[in-house]
Amino acid sequence: MRIDVITLFPEIIESFIQFGVLGRAVRNELLEVHTFNPRNYTEDERRNVDDYPYGGNAGMVMKVDPLRKALQKAKSRHQGRFLTVYLSPQGRRLNQAAINAFAELDGMVLVAGRYEGVDERLIDLEIDEEWSLGDYVVSGGEPAAMVVIDAVARQCRGVLGDEDSARQDSFMSGLLDCPHYTRPAVYEGRAVPGVLLEGNHEAIRRWRLKQALGRTWRRRRDLIEARRLSDEELSLLNEYTQEHHDAESCQPQQSEKNNDRPDKAN
Ligand code: SAM
Repeated sequence: MRIDVITLFPEIIESFIQFGVLGRAVRNELLEVHTFNPRNYTEDERRNVDDYPYGGNAGMVMKVDPLRKALQKAKSRHQGRFLTVYLSPQGRRLNQAAINAFAELDGMVLVAGRYEGVDERLIDLEIDEEWSLGDYVVSGGEPAAMVVIDAVARQCRGVLGDEDSARQDSFMSGLLDCPHYTRPAVYEGRAVPGVLLEGNHEAIRRWRLKQALGRTWRRRRDLIEARRLSDEELSLLNEYTQEHHDAESCQPQQSEKNNDRPDKAN
């Protein structure tokens, strides 16, 4: 997988890809990340990448030509199936399904905007899809590019030491992840659920599935409603709701703290 980022601030991306799982993926050549700075594709003396908006308005707009030249250079480096994406608050909201689909590609070219955004003609001429971090505005597309790079990298074969670890992440199976614990077994009087200490793998699997279902039901009812539950899942969710009498009154998407209580008592 090769990902190129068109950005006025390549240092942000270059620094980000040095650390953790992503850093290892890049060093092990499981993922290639390159940056292209539109400023290097300007022709005027002042190397201007932005200009005043036609019609007048606050802020500046990224000029089409340097951006397009940088983008075309990046595209020329790709072979196979790749997608050109403009990161924009006006795009579709990113989710795990989109990330999984991106991870099937051979490459991506991500355009990070700045100022008031890019000249619309760049989008018309060069962009396949627009994707957003969510319904809020940040100052540049770089945070969104970093999110895409990291989330896609996790799905690429060999990047995570243990393939199961991505499979059990929230959203991969349409559920939130179960709670996790590590040593010590008791902390501030709070004990790790006994089932996790007993070594019965089937009991642990059922407990984890039950917690994942219960959490999702309480925090993200929309995910449960969108999913066809198996007989086992239905029965585990019933067990969960019976064990947590107060769960019925919990609204999904309440604050983490409020939602979390009954799980921790378990
Ligand atoms: N005027 C633009 C609008 O309201 O749609 C916002 C411009 S924003 C200050 C500058 C750049 O940040 C955008 O071109 C885009 O690349 C990026 N950006 C801002 N919010 C984003 C979001 N929610 N998702 C993805 N990219 C975003």
